[in-house]
Amino acid sequence: MRHKGRHGRTSWNEARAFSVTALFAMGLTGCATKPGVATSATKGTSAPAPAPAPAPASAPAPASAPLIREALVTRFASDAEAAKLALHLFDADGDVVDVLGAQVFDGGYRGRIRLVPALPVGVDRKHLAWVAGALEDFDDFFAAIAKQREVRYRWRGLTLRFFRSVGNTTPNAFARGWTVSYNVNGSIDTTAERARQTLFHEIFHLDDADHGDWSPAHLTAIQDAIERKCATSTACLEPYAPTSTVVRRGTYYAFQPGNDVHEYAAEVALRWYAEQRAVVRGERPVRRPFKCGPAENRRAWEAVAEEFFGGVDLVPAC
Ligand SMILES: [Zn+2]
Repeated sequence: MRHKGRHGRTSWNEARAFSVTALFAMGLTGCATKPGVATSATKGTSAPAPAPAPAPASAPAPASAPLIREALVTRFASDAEAAKLALHLFDADGDVVDVLGAQVFDGGYRGRIRLVPALPVGVDRKHLAWVAGALEDFDDFFAAIAKQREVRYRWRGLTLRFFRSVGNTTPNAFARGWTVSYNVNGSIDTTAERARQTLFHEIFHLDDADHGDWSPAHLTAIQDAIERKCATSTACLEPYAPTSTVVRRGTYYAFQPGNDVHEYAAEVALRWYAEQRAVVRGERPVRRPFKCGPAENRRAWEAVAEEFFGGVDLVPAC
């Protein structure tokens, strides 16, 4: 079991993506990648467990759907707008919104952090709206990709557990077992776009695990070669960095010591998504296509695309 936390993403909007100058100081650091780093103090909530959906996505079993729906109505009784969002997520994608149980999160080099349940209602409803918007974006995006090739990728039928970190703005999110846990007090997720990027990164971790923990076997050699060349030199790593995310007082997120190959993989996947999405939406292409950088980039890009995204690459040749 792995446990992922995403921290310290910088914003990289498409217009100025991947420019080192676009980086700015961030709250905290990399992803928790050590196995089993969360210590449950209490179990999750007593809500009905979501039906495990087969890949790529399917609604929960018809028999349990009314019960889950009813539980959502009860859970969100205090906020009609949030209830609408949660019910729509369930009806459209089979996603179940819930809270994370109180627990102590072992953030490795970030220390131990207390997490408490936080239903995304009232002032925190915007996070639910961002998450819902992101998942809707993924539906549209993968519908476009599926016109090219079938993908072995699941982004629906998830459990979404909201929490608040106490006295800390990290982890922003983490993912395990078709569940993404999301921090309403995270330092990164302050806009819809950032939340969407975080969601894509986290969901990739789920699929990576589902593909037999794919990334260690397929990307470690590439990541190692890059790190042998550059160590932690940000200048040296810049052409290899899938996204502009850097760790405060550290280096690119994908190469930050303590972040293993799962993080590099998730960032490459996020970059693949960003570049394809720009093409799908007819937007300005992402500057400096990743695959047109050093040879290692193309190898990682193609491997990720082949395994998870049907080998689709809509980005023009270099
Ligand atoms: Zn991660």
